[in-house]
Amino acid sequence: MIGAMRDVIVAANWKMHTTPADAGELASTIASRTREAGVIRVICPPFVCLQAVAQAVADDDPPVAVGAQNIHHELVGAYTGEVSAPMLAGLATWVILGHSERRRDAGETDELIGLKLGRAVDAGLRPILCVGEQLADREAGRAGGVVDEQLAGALERHDPTALAGAGLVIAYEPVWAIGTGRNARGADASAMADGIRASLEQRGWGSRAADVPVLYGGSVTSTNIDEFLAEPAIDGALVGGASLKPDEVAGIVARAGMTARARGGAR
Ligand code: PEP
Repeated sequence: MIGAMRDVIVAANWKMHTTPADAGELASTIASRTREAGVIRVICPPFVCLQAVAQAVADDDPPVAVGAQNIHHELVGAYTGEVSAPMLAGLATWVILGHSERRRDAGETDELIGLKLGRAVDAGLRPILCVGEQLADREAGRAGGVVDEQLAGALERHDPTALAGAGLVIAYEPVWAIGTGRNARGADASAMADGIRASLEQRGWGSRAADVPVLYGGSVTSTNIDEFLAEPAIDGALVGGASLKPDEVAGIVARAGMTARARGGAR
């Protein structure tokens, strides 16, 4: 499947790293070292660092987008410690949803993630929906089925036109590859990207499924990014650990710039 018209995206998931005192400097260092035409750069710091990062990258060109790592599924109310989508106005324009660490640590279900997806779209946030199988699922040949179920659970009740209009991005992140230093094979990630689009196509998306960017995530580095971006079905990366290291991000975004140029999207 040729992804000529799809966005090329490198999204940094800083997880629970950085403070308001140091996040801005890290963001501006990364921004200054990753100015690649045609690549959408997204930095997702902890909530408390959103403002520092947004200020630090405000004038960067091409623009750097700022994203949150989560939102609550309600808009307002007695939910101690939570942050709702409308509260991110002026701070973030993207949001990561359904990361496997939240599925694991906060018990997030596909249904709950689906509710958050609706809140993200209503608030004008561009969602990155994370899906991915456990190692046992892959070893048992169930990876495709698990990801299909995750998509079905999160996307049911959502109008494909609204999600496509919001720029839905899917991040394929095999759980066994996250933070382990053991990345998936490019060919397997590519096959999953095809499977993800086939799943969307069958669930009412029709030909719009071909326009949905699919990122790979799981121990991506500047050394292995080529394996993924050599695959036409893969449109970029969601990067965790390496996204805190400017040298690494520079290498990853430089490789993404090659993909953007090859696709004719870089200007
Ligand atoms: C992630 O946090 O989404 C991720 C892929 O982490 P890492 O790159 O560290 O595996």
